[in-house]
Amino acid sequence: MDSVLIIIYILSSVSFIIGLKMLSHPETARKGNLVSAAGMGLAIIGTMFMYQNEDGVLLQNRGWILAGLAVGGIIGWMSAKKVQMTAMPEMVSLFNGMGGACAALISIAEFNHFASTDFTFQIHEAYQNADSIDEAFLVLPVQIGIMVTVLLGLIIGSVSFAGSVVAWGKLNGRIKDKMFKGQHIVNLSLLGMILFLGALLLYNIYSQFVVSQSDIGMLGPLTIFNKIHIKLPVSVFVQFYIILLLSLAYGVLFVLPIGGADMPVVISLLNSFTGVAAACGGFLYQNNAMLTGGILVGAAGTLLTILMCKAMNRSLKNVLIGAFGGSTAVAAGGSTKEQGAFKEISLSDAAVVLGYANKVMIVPGYGLAVAQAQHACHELEKLLEERGVEVKYAIHPVAGRMPGHMNVLLAESDVPYDKLQEMEQANEEFPTTDVVLILGANDVVNPAAKSDPASPIYGMPILDVELAKNVIVNKRSMKPGYAGIENDLFFRPKTSMLFGDAKKVLQDLIAEIKSI
Ligand code: NDP
Repeated sequence: MDSVLIIIYILSSVSFIIGLKMLSHPETARKGNLVSAAGMGLAIIGTMFMYQNEDGVLLQNRGWILAGLAVGGIIGWMSAKKVQMTAMPEMVSLFNGMGGACAALISIAEFNHFASTDFTFQIHEAYQNADSIDEAFLVLPVQIGIMVTVLLGLIIGSVSFAGSVVAWGKLNGRIKDKMFKGQHIVNLSLLGMILFLGALLLYNIYSQFVVSQSDIGMLGPLTIFNKIHIKLPVSVFVQFYIILLLSLAYGVLFVLPIGGADMPVVISLLNSFTGVAAACGGFLYQNNAMLTGGILVGAAGTLLTILMCKAMNRSLKNVLIGAFGGSTAVAAGGSTKEQGAFKEISLSDAAVVLGYANKVMIVPGYGLAVAQAQHACHELEKLLEERGVEVKYAIHPVAGRMPGHMNVLLAESDVPYDKLQEMEQANEEFPTTDVVLILGANDVVNPAAKSDPASPIYGMPILDVELAKNVIVNKRSMKPGYAGIENDLFFRPKTSMLFGDAKKVLQDLIAEIKSI
């Protein structure tokens, strides 16, 4: 390979690593995204204009590739511009599915390429240069190795594509949770069949290459080349496309029964699958940038999956086979018990309580994102600070609908990062807090996570808002949050409900506080 292209791939790989590192902090995340994107652009341009095959021929069909880049780029750009913050996980899921589909398509193309390759020349050459016949047939394991990579890319890429499309459909409500009796056994059997067919296919290809030493001895060196002329039988093609169909079916059945609230975890897992599938492509083409990119996505996706499970105090197995969230959670218990009466607070009273407090902690949740009330929230924070009130934000790791949702939301309205307290810090600060103002959060402050073993969120660490002197909860109704369960906090003596859309309530609060 051209040394300039090697340098380009190294630069791209380094930019992926630096970009990923920068993504881990809200202040540098945007730049990190751009750095990685620039690296990817560099790798694409380098490959298009400098990559040569063994015969020194440059990449063909550049017009088609550029047209594909333009169409994909425009669609991606426009959807990213248009997407609502709350619909971000859906979009990530769909884009991730496209990555999986690409990896599967690469495998399909490479399989057909493999099937139409005449290996006579390669084996002939190896034979001429070899000291023994065994050495000449070293070319055989290499071909089988290539097919293993092709198959892995096909299976993992198809599972990721089909699973991501189902996850996208579930998040936007087009697909409902569906589970039938014995589904996990069906899923496991399907996976077993895929692996069995994969092994069979490899064996069938292997047997096409095998020419025993006695055959060679009998036939003489020249004739064996005729025999080695490989033409894969139709059964191998049939097996390959059955594996593709089974993998797509597995992707659908794998995600279909998983509860709505667990979708972001599943998306992160599927994201890591896509990374591994892309890394298979990198192996196949011996393309270091693709390999590094795939490995980084695979590793980052896996780590994020683990971190999200930890934040919800659930095992991955429980996420994958336990029903949680959406409609299923209500049936799972904890939601129907009689809660008693709740107390409401008027806007003017809330304004007085907040305006004369020493310390206020704001707990943002999914509802704040729905209401797009982040700017009003920042305005309230500044107004309170002007009055000498200390204001901080308590950020739960799974508040909202995607990792870092609240950080990104508040960053949009220029809330300083040092005001954001992570859960552990915030829990230490609540005992010295006068008022906790909960804005559209529910599950992340639900005490059932600590006290009710029957609750589907039992074990999830929560923000201990009750340690503060007063709790004001803003939401539109008494409806449950994403886990579908009622919240005992709303009925506790320290809690007052301030009903209404978060943006409207915050704007009215600001006006009230200004008038006191
Ligand atoms: P929740 O979904 O528990 O609650 C959000 C609340 O916001 C609702 O009760 C709703 O009540 C209220 N709300 C909705 N719209 C508005 C509005 N316009 N104005 C005011 N309030 C509004 O959100 P949390 O952030 O507390 O919890 C996140 C949930 O998502 C957890 O269950 C978590 O496990 C789950 N999850 C999050 C992930 C992540 O990465 N962030 C990943 C996986 C799961 P009402 O309708 O009455 O207004």
